[in-house]
Formats: sequence, C-alpha cells, structure tokens
Amino acid sequence: LARYRAAIIGSGAWACSAARMMAQNTQADDPADDFMDEVKMWVYEEEYEGRKLTEIINETHENPKYFPGFDLGPNVVAVPSIVDAAKDADLIVFCAPHQFMHNICKQLMGKVKPGAVAISLTKGMRVRPEGPQLISQMVRRYLGIDCSVLMGANIATDIGREQMSEAVIGYDDLDAAKKFRKLFERPYFRVGLLPDPVGAEMCGTLKNIVAIGAGMVDGLGLGPNSKATIIRQGLIEMRSFSKALYPSVRDDTFLECCGVGDLVATCYGGRNRLVAEAWTRAQLAGNPRSFEDLEAELLKGQKLQGVLTSNEVQEILKTRHWEHSYPLFTTINRIINGYLPPSIVVDYVAGSKFEV
Ligand code: NAD
Ligand code: 13P
Repeated sequence: LARYRAAIIGSGAWACSAARMMAQNTQADDPADDFMDEVKMWVYEEEYEGRKLTEIINETHENPKYFPGFDLGPNVVAVPSIVDAAKDADLIVFCAPHQFMHNICKQLMGKVKPGAVAISLTKGMRVRPEGPQLISQMVRRYLGIDCSVLMGANIATDIGREQMSEAVIGYDDLDAAKKFRKLFERPYFRVGLLPDPVGAEMCGTLKNIVAIGAGMVDGLGLGPNSKATIIRQGLIEMRSFSKALYPSVRDDTFLECCGVGDLVATCYGGRNRLVAEAWTRAQLAGNPRSFEDLEAELLKGQKLQGVLTSNEVQEILKTRHWEHSYPLFTTINRIINGYLPPSIVVDYVAGSKFEV
C-alpha cells in the first residue's frame, strides 16, 4: 500500500504546532496508516544561541525560538534546504508569514513531485499592480498543483497545549481535502470541510486588520462593548470586501470557525492585538514606538501580519475608490500610518469623524 509523505514549509509558532499534530498522526501505528512517519519541516536557517536552529530542533525535538516548551515529536526532521524539504512530498503544507510566500514559491517552481497536493495555513494576501493574489492562488500558479486552505481560530500555543480547537479545510479538490483532514485531525483539533476556499482564506487574511483595531481598543482602556463594535463592523467589512473581490464567496462562511470564530479569538488573544495595544499605549503616553520595533520586542522573531495586510488591502480600496464603503478598515489604516489618532478607532461608528 502506497503511503503519503508529508512536509511542512515554515517553522514559526503555528507551523511548529501544525507539524506536531501532523507528526502525531503520521506516527500512528495501525495498518490503515496512510502516511510515512517522517515529517520534513523546512526551517529558515538562523543561529540560535550560537548554534544552527535546525541542529537544535533535530537534537532536542523542540523549536526554542518560535515554539518553546513543546515537543514536536521525534519524527519531525528540520531541513535547511527548502527544495530538499519539499521535493519528495505528496502532501505539502505551507505555513510561513505571507510576506515570504512569493519568494518561497519561486524557489519551489518545478521542484515539487508531480501529483503532489498542497494546503496553505498562511493568513495574508499579495497585492500586485494587476490585482490581489491569495496565497493558495500563488501556490497553484507557481507550482502547478492544487492548494486547499486550513483556517480557524487556531492560536498556536493553545493547540500545542491540546486545548479543543476547530478549523475548516477550504477546498476545490475534495479528495485532497480528505487526505489533509486525516493528516491534521486530532481528538483536540476538529477539522471540517468547506467548499468555499476563497471565502475561508479571505476570512483568515482580513481578520488580522480587525485585530489591530481590537488591540487599539484595549490600548485605549475601553471595555468589551467597544471591542464588540469593532468585531461587528469588522465582520461586515470582511464579508463585503471578500464578496466584492470574489463574488463566489458564501455568506455562511463568515459564521464558521474561519470567520467569526477566528475573528473573536484573534481580537482577544492574538499577536496583532497584543502589539496594537502596546503601540496605542505608547502613543497615548507621548512616547510613540513603531510597529516594527514593538514586533521585534514583543514577538521575538514572530511576525505580525495585520499591519502589512492593512496597507495591502488599503491599496486595493484606494485603486477601486472603495474607501468610503470600508470605514473601519480605512480608519485603522489611517491610524497606523499616523494620519489619525488611535482614539478615533471607535468613532467611525458615529460616522461624524470619518472623511475620505
Ligand atoms: P511566526 O510568526 O511564529 O514566525 C516567523 C517565521 O518566519 C519563522 O519561522 C522564521 O524562521 C520565518 N522567517 C523569518 N524570515 C524569513 C524569510 N526571509 N523567509 C522565510 N521565512 C522567514 O510564524 P507562524 O506563527 O507559523 O505564522 C505563519 C502564518 O500562520 C502567518 O500567516 C500567520 O498569520 C498564520 N497563523 C499563525 C497563528 C499563530 O498562532 N501563530 C495561528 C494561525 C495562523
Ligand atoms: P495572530 O497572528 O494575531 O496571533 O493571530 C493568530 C491566528 O490567526 C489565530 O487563528
């Protein structure tokens, strides 16, 4: 019986948490096991405390920089060459910050196995002069293989602690989606199948902008009522923008764990929220700090997606003259770029302070 080889491209917090689940499943010792035990994990090589990160991971089975305190499993093998990590894999999982995905895809062009299928766990999109490109579309275009997406309220450390969480696989190819569900599903990680891959990926991308607004609310010292207005309006703009760009996107997708579920989790417990809160507090204290500076200090190498995504989405809104229709997205973008004070983040609701 042919067994599938799985590999993951990326080794940050979520990538490690996902690799840990994959490795738990591929190691299963029953005759119906569909997978080879080994999971190759591409690691963007760097020095950690004077040693190569790949060497440390392969010796200790832990990623001390991005996912400290979690045993990834003996069958996760860190590989510094991206081509070596991906070339024999039947199932390729992409989980790198979205700003690096274009370079990653270019390096893998013509290097993956014919018949391989992919899934993207990355939240974010690329904006080019000719229009936006989702990460799954990029993978398909550059590598010529199918690409599903896995999205949900999936804070990496909570899943590492095996707290019950859910995700959906947005798919075009049902057979591929079923293989990936088998690769990821754990007793603590429920995976549903959703035939709206574009809607799911747009949800994962756009909630990062709203989470920046939620962090501002926290930085301003406002409570749950104010944060709820951001979440409510954010969900409306996420749905409206997704459907305006891609009319096939389904309304129901926004009520799934990839929609409202992820939005709530990120607005209360995510990194975008954390950094935006600190940024807002620094502004209010008259000691402004940049997002880059706070990202480096608070996330220690992990990457913020919301600020970049806000600028990318705003480019689309400007080009298409849609800014008026997206008051929350536009307000957040103006605040992070210094054109409006953070105190205005909830004022778009009253409508009085917002002018384009
Ligand atoms: P991370 O932010 O924890 O770590 C950053 C990663 O980027 C590291 O693996 C680092 O090695 C790598 N990197 C740095 N420079 C690079 C370069 N030039 N080229 C390629 N890689 C480079 O990563 P993460 O949490 O795994 O996030 C990956 C994606 O998953 C993001 O889109 C994020 O939004 C999404 N996501 C994250 C979480 C979470 O809780 N962390 C949950 C769900 C989804
Ligand atoms: P942050 O990047 O804001 O931590 O969001 C994580 C996430 O996407 C949870 O599903």
